[in-house]
Amino acid sequence: MSDSDTSKEKPSHFIRDIVAGDVAAGRTTEVVTRFPPEPNGYLHIGHAKAICLDFGIAAEFGGRCHLRMDDTNPAKESMEYVNAIKEDVRWLGFDWGEHFYYSADYFETMVEIAEDLIRRGDAYVCDLSRDEWKDYRGVPTRPGKDSPGRSRTVEENLDLFRRMKDGEFEDGSRCLRAKIDMASPNLHMRDPVLYRILRANHYRAGDRWCIYPTYDFAHTIEDALEGVTHSLCTLEFEVHRPLYEWVADRLDVPVRPRQFEFARLNLTYTVMSKRKLLELVNEGLVDGWNDPRMPTICGMRRRGYPPAAIRAFCETIGITKYESLTDVALLEHCVRDELNRTALRRMAVLDPLEVVIENVDEGGEHAYEAVNNPEDPSAGTRTIALTRRIYIDRSDFMVDPPPKYFRLAPGRSVRLRYAGFLTCTGVETNDETGDVTRVICRWDPPETKVKVKGTIHWVSADHAVSTEFRLYDRLFLVEEPDADKDVDFRGHLNPESLTVCNGVAEPSVLELGAGEGIQFERIGYFCADVEDHAKDRPVFNRTVSLKDTWARSSSSRG
Ligand code: ATP
Ligand code: MG
Repeated sequence: MSDSDTSKEKPSHFIRDIVAGDVAAGRTTEVVTRFPPEPNGYLHIGHAKAICLDFGIAAEFGGRCHLRMDDTNPAKESMEYVNAIKEDVRWLGFDWGEHFYYSADYFETMVEIAEDLIRRGDAYVCDLSRDEWKDYRGVPTRPGKDSPGRSRTVEENLDLFRRMKDGEFEDGSRCLRAKIDMASPNLHMRDPVLYRILRANHYRAGDRWCIYPTYDFAHTIEDALEGVTHSLCTLEFEVHRPLYEWVADRLDVPVRPRQFEFARLNLTYTVMSKRKLLELVNEGLVDGWNDPRMPTICGMRRRGYPPAAIRAFCETIGITKYESLTDVALLEHCVRDELNRTALRRMAVLDPLEVVIENVDEGGEHAYEAVNNPEDPSAGTRTIALTRRIYIDRSDFMVDPPPKYFRLAPGRSVRLRYAGFLTCTGVETNDETGDVTRVICRWDPPETKVKVKGTIHWVSADHAVSTEFRLYDRLFLVEEPDADKDVDFRGHLNPESLTVCNGVAEPSVLELGAGEGIQFERIGYFCADVEDHAKDRPVFNRTVSLKDTWARSSSSRG
C-alpha cells in the first residue's frame, strides 16, 4: 500500500471505536475479521467498501483478515467468480496470507454441530409443508404455533436428520430447525431453518450433499471456527444478529465472535445488485463484467481507476449506521486526485484538424522539452518536435468565433503547448459542405512576445500515431436506476454511455503498457485498454474527465 494511505490521520467511526475499545480493555488480543463474498458474481464498488473496512481494520490493529468464499448455496456459484474475487481483492491492495477459506469445506463439521444441537434438545426435524409453514410461523404481532416436530425425541430427530443427509427424503419435504421461541417478535428467532434438503450440484462439492445449511447457521460457525473476533456486515443482517448470537453461544470455541452492522454503499447513476449486473452482462448491454462502465472492481480497473483512489474513496465516505446515497462525483474526485499526482502528461487530439505552418520547412523540426508531470518533478521531461504539419482539435478553431473564444480563429493568435505561438493566416474549406479542411498559420518561437489568451494542445502530423479513444459516460441517465420497483432499470440505460473517437497521439504513447494511466492534456485521464491496446493500434479508455464536479455539487448541497 502506498505511503499516502497510511500517513493520513484516519477519521474515526463507530466500528473503529468498538475495536479500539475491545483491544484497550483486553477483550480482544488479536483482531480477526473476514470478508465473505458469495462467488455468484464479480465484486463491485460496494464490496470494496466492505473489503477496505474488513482488511483495513485488521491491519490497523495488527490483526488479520480472512477471505472466505461464502459458498453454501449450490446454485449460481462458480470457480470463475472465485478466481475473479481473489484477483480483485489483491488488486485493491489487500492480502489474506494463508487465510483463504471455502464455507463448503466446513460442511462435514456443520453436520456434526447440527447433531450436537439435536442432542442438546436445541434442534429438531420439522416436516410441515410450505403452506402450513406460513400459518405456523405467524406474524410479528401474533405468535407462531409449535410445529408437531418440536416435541420429537432426540433419538427420533437424530435418526431423521441422518436420513435427510442420506437422501431418503424429497427436496423441501423436511428441514432441521433451531428450537428457540415461536413467540419471539423477531421472526428470525421463531425456530429458524438450519438445514434444508436440496439436490443440487455444488461447484466444488459436486453431488456429495443433498442437504445444505442456511446462511445464518453456516456463517456463525465459520466465523467461530476461524477465530473471527469482529464479524462486520451490512445493515440487513441486523435482525439476524440474535440468531447469530444464539448459534455462537452454543459453539465450543476459544473466541466467541460478535457481529456488527454498517450501512451499505449506494452510488448514484449505477446499480449494485449482482443479479442486475449479471443481466447487463448476459443480455449484452455491456461488454462483459469488466466493461469500463460497470461498477465492478474489474470494470474500474479496466477503466483506469487506481486502487489507491478506490481506497481513498472508501475512507472518505466513512462507516455509518444509516442508509444513504453517495454521489458518484465523489468517487471521480478521488480518482482525479490520485491521477493528478501520478499520471504522466501526454498530448493527443481526438478530432484532428490539420494545420500547415507556412514558415516551418517541410522536413524541418523544432524540438522542445515537455514536462512529464508538473506535480512530480522526478517524472522528468521528454522531447517533442514541432513540424510543418500538425494536428489541433477541431473544437480549438472557429471561422467566426463568439466574443469570449480565446482559441484559434482567422487573424488570431494562440499559444501552442510547449512550442511557441500560432497565428492563423488562412483557412481552406470543403466547397460543398463548407467544413474547414485545413488551417494555415504563421509560427513564432516561445521566446517571442505574442499576446494571447489561450493555449491549445497539438500533435505533429509527421510523428502522429493513430489512436482510438473510448469516451465513457455514466451507464444510466438517472441517479437511482432501480429506485422504482415498477420500472425496469434497463429502461434508464444511457444510450450515449460510450463514444469512440479515432484521433492521433504523440508517439511516446507507444511506450505505454496495457493498463497504464496517463493524462492527455486538456482532455482527461486515460488508460491503455487491457484487452485491445496494441503497439500497432493504441486504444485508450477515458478514465475520467479533467473537470471536477464534486467541489461544486457538494458546496451547493451545503
Ligand atoms: P447481492 O445482494 O448483490 O447479491 P451481496 O451483499 O449478497 O450482494 P455478497 O457476496 O454476499 O453480496 O457480499 C459480501 C460482503 O460484501 C457482505 O458482507 C456484504 O455485506 C458486503 N457488501 C455487499 N454489497 C455491499 C455494499 N453495497 N456496500 C457495502 N458492503 C457490501
Ligand atoms: Mg450475500
